[in-house]
Amino acid sequence: MSTYIKIKMLRTLKHFFGYDSFRPLQEDIIQTILTGKDSLVLMPTGGGKSICYQLPALLSEGTAIVVSPLISLMKDQVETLNANGIAASALNSNNDETENANIRRACMGGKLKLLYISPEKLIAEANYLLRDMHISLFAVDEAHCISQWGHDFRPEYAQMGFLHEMFPDVPIIALTATADKITREDIVRQLHLKEPKIFISSFDRPNLSLTVKRGYLQKEKSKAILEFISGHGGESGIIYCMSRSKTETVAQLLQKHGIGATVYHAGLSPKERDKAQADFINDRIQVVCATIAFGMGIDKSNVRWIIHYNLPKSIESFYQEIGRAGRDGMPSDTVLFYSLSDLILLTRFATESGQQDINLEKLQRMQQYAESDICRRRILLSYFGETSTEDCGNCDVCKNPPQRFDGTVIVQKALSGIARTNEQVGIQLLIDILRGTMGAGIISKSYQQLKTFGAGRDIPGRDWQDYLLQMLQLGYFEIAYNENNHLKITSSGNDVLFGRAKAQLAVIRREETSKKKTKKTTTKELPLDLPSIENTDLFEALRQLRKKLADEDMLPPYIVLSDKVLHTLSTLRPTSVEEFGNISGIGDYKKKKYGKEFVSLIREYL
Ligand code: ADP
Ligand code: ZN
Repeated sequence: MSTYIKIKMLRTLKHFFGYDSFRPLQEDIIQTILTGKDSLVLMPTGGGKSICYQLPALLSEGTAIVVSPLISLMKDQVETLNANGIAASALNSNNDETENANIRRACMGGKLKLLYISPEKLIAEANYLLRDMHISLFAVDEAHCISQWGHDFRPEYAQMGFLHEMFPDVPIIALTATADKITREDIVRQLHLKEPKIFISSFDRPNLSLTVKRGYLQKEKSKAILEFISGHGGESGIIYCMSRSKTETVAQLLQKHGIGATVYHAGLSPKERDKAQADFINDRIQVVCATIAFGMGIDKSNVRWIIHYNLPKSIESFYQEIGRAGRDGMPSDTVLFYSLSDLILLTRFATESGQQDINLEKLQRMQQYAESDICRRRILLSYFGETSTEDCGNCDVCKNPPQRFDGTVIVQKALSGIARTNEQVGIQLLIDILRGTMGAGIISKSYQQLKTFGAGRDIPGRDWQDYLLQMLQLGYFEIAYNENNHLKITSSGNDVLFGRAKAQLAVIRREETSKKKTKKTTTKELPLDLPSIENTDLFEALRQLRKKLADEDMLPPYIVLSDKVLHTLSTLRPTSVEEFGNISGIGDYKKKKYGKEFVSLIREYL
């Protein structure tokens, strides 16, 4: 590849997108397309896939056709491109006839650089529109939809093999954030890719912090969530819950505390769902409490945090869900609440699922992540087949390595409680016995007469939850899922119970509010690579200006300018339109369109 082309690529990147350099792989991928070869790109969410085909589209004659499975995704991409002064449109069933007629005319006249299209429409137009236009390349986005093995299978995606027969000279690039090998092979086979170059980038998302909170009771969870959200100012976030009813209760809790929240689940009408999504994208509400149904159609780049109210059923789901935060590369926080009751419930689902072995195995890997006392990111990456030799420094284990103490007596009390009931109790009843809490379950079996009744009164119930999770993880007892979840002591448990072995437990850490404060200041000094300190008041003012401009143009605020750009603006504080245009992420079009207003606001502040 000549230096001339390289310079042209960089200039185009700067002119339209305002970026000074390519991310790893982007340059190679673009060159592959420009030389007419097929490629398959596996990159995590937020990795920067779009530019890989958008830039070649801008550098080539004709129009690039981008196949995308969801109208909301097309809309987002087209708005983003238009906001950068790039001619792009989407052809789909949402448009009215005139709109589509105009788009078709623009295509035939070579007026568009990119055309987004659904797979159905693509197939329908194969012998019509596609024949009448000059196509520079095909990009198949969310290409994992092609695979029956994947989670988002779309039958129409499997019919696109004809593209290469019909257009043998047009390169195809397939892109996805789903990495597994079967899917990869399916994509290559079904699209008839010709000796494709395969690009696999690291799946690491270092800007996402990882935290697990273990053994919280309902009330504490609520409190922790409210504190967490208040520590995040007005920033957008998603709370994933296992059930619809949970999404409702959590949303009500937030609303009661003045936080703009709504729900999203499969039980809503399409209209209600669209509204929830639009309100979230346009920053009209701060939080969505959702079941897993939410997110696929969301490209919102400024989701700043994700909470998992319940344990997810696999690491794939978990990673996909936390991946919705921080697409703009800015630091974002993720918190997972891990409780025994979730584990028990999910184990039951997996057992009854008909694919018991696979699903139990997946759940176990999720459990390992939640229980880990080594760097959590290393566990995630190794799950996806990447090895890392260093701890990440951005997960709770790295930041606060667990401290251990001799917990033999605690373990003995618990195990002896189990033994004295002849292993006929589950977790909650055991805690009631240890704490000496009277209740129907106790009285009906006369457990109040046991020697261990009340023997663990000195330890709060929530701490017992945590210790019991640790004991389970250490293998001192098992849960008999097929026997009402009763607890069964293992042989290593017996060793501790009868004094033949000692038990080490991890000290339980509860977050104090003071600690939160220090954390907040560090997240506020965000633009890591920037020299001066950010002015947070200015940031707020810029955010409001962005919202105003976005509303005027009926665009989501993050499309006007990303959070990252706002942080850079409030740090570098450019005072001329020229300086404004030099900021990473501001292309020439946005410089002209928004420069004046933002600069005069910054001037007011100085
Ligand atoms: P993906 O489609 O892989 O999820 P996107 O294409 O939406 O990711 O890119 C994620 C973010 O990264 C976007 O805000 C995009 O503008 C930004 N980005 C992409 N390439 C670069 C680059 N070379 N330099 C800086 N930011 C980039
Ligand atoms: Zn770590």
